Amino acid sequence: MSLCSYKTVYRDVFKNRDIEFTCKNPSESDLEVCLFHNPNNKGDYSERQKINEALDNKIKDATSKNEPLICIGYNLYDLFLNDREFRNSVCFNNSYIKGKVKIRSRFFKDVWFTDVKFECDGDVIFDGSKFRGRGNVSFADAKFLNQGSVSFKGTQFRGRGNVSFSQTEFHGKGNVNFEDARFLNKGDIYFSRAQFLKEGHVLFSHVHLECQGVVSFDNARFVNDGFVLFSDSRFKGEGDVFFSSAHFEGNGEIHFKRTEFLNKGNLKFDEVQFLKEIVNFEDTKFLNQGGIEFYDAKFLNQGDVEFRGAKFLNQGEVNFERTQFLKHGYVKFSDAQFENNGDISFAGATFLNEYVSFSDTVFRGIGKISFNNVDFEGKGNVEFVKAQFLKEGYVDFSGVKFVNKNVIFFKVQFEGKGDVDFEYAQFLKEGYVDFSGVKFVNEGNVKFAGANF
Ligand SMILES: [Zn+2]
Repeated sequence: MSLCSYKTVYRDVFKNRDIEFTCKNPSESDLEVCLFHNPNNKGDYSERQKINEALDNKIKDATSKNEPLICIGYNLYDLFLNDREFRNSVCFNNSYIKGKVKIRSRFFKDVWFTDVKFECDGDVIFDGSKFRGRGNVSFADAKFLNQGSVSFKGTQFRGRGNVSFSQTEFHGKGNVNFEDARFLNKGDIYFSRAQFLKEGHVLFSHVHLECQGVVSFDNARFVNDGFVLFSDSRFKGEGDVFFSSAHFEGNGEIHFKRTEFLNKGNLKFDEVQFLKEIVNFEDTKFLNQGGIEFYDAKFLNQGDVEFRGAKFLNQGEVNFERTQFLKHGYVKFSDAQFENNGDISFAGATFLNEYVSFSDTVFRGIGKISFNNVDFEGKGNVEFVKAQFLKEGYVDFSGVKFVNKNVIFFKVQFEGKGDVDFEYAQFLKEGYVDFSGVKFVNEGNVKFAGANF
């Protein structure tokens, strides 16, 4: 009896190294490869049955002996793992899985689906599975090419290692659903460079991401025609949260509504690009211990940008420098609370949309506020009605340019310790400028030198 000639190299994404693998299964009669590595399998009924039976025996054998289940580079037709317990590692790296996938089991060590291609007709379901114990979980580089949804609804990641969906690709019809998932693992969570290209919704609502490391969606691409929902989710890890350079495109809306950022590190949305319809951060709680960074972000969405009622109560700075709001709708920071202990800066930002509101917005805490050289150029109003500038430091509106219709600072309170500076501000509006009822009770100077009305 000869052995299967299949050899491959697979990647350990956590140690960043390649590992050689040689199959040790007996080869099929007349062939140089085993049943699982036969690329010429047509997948007809009898072949499928034979493969499924052989896989089932292999799984039973591995679990009963507590041995690793190694299925590298396999050609499989169905994968059903219902209510099983895997005490040892499970590895399906580099495999092709056609047919149906439904997995609801408990895993206690490494689980690797790195570089797997899911080419099924229907849904791929991991709902309610539990990944716990020692080890890492990897779906890195996996390609979901199925024509149904991919669902990790209610899945629990509670292991001591990392969870990686880095560079994972989701193609075809259907949704990507992580609703109610719990990421409570000790390591990092990676969705870096993941590509959400399925036609339907991307659902991360009610998800808890509470790992001890970083949570990274940096450079992730969301290109779908449905919603992207992070609503009511909670980020509460020990490390930073990255959405740096993430890209949101297609019809539909993006919601971070009521999302809670409670992580101990920074929150980074720098250079993110929003090209969908509505971008909604309404009532979002930014309570992380580090800075909040939206610098160089581009809001290119067609509709409104909502930060209404958002609470920026973080420990560090809030940075919207050079952020661009370029499309038609409203940008609302009204009723937002900025009560952080660092600087708040919109310096160099551009607002080309129709209506901008900072009405009833409260700025409190130590540090300064900067709207230095901000460009407001929409057709509608810029409103700071009843906004309260209670921050201790300098309030800088120097060089700001208002080309909007009406500029309304009605009943604004400046009550900080530093200067309030409108030097070289340009009011080039078509309508009126309203500073009536403004209270300058700040301890420093009020400067309008060089301002142009
Ligand atoms: Zn083989």
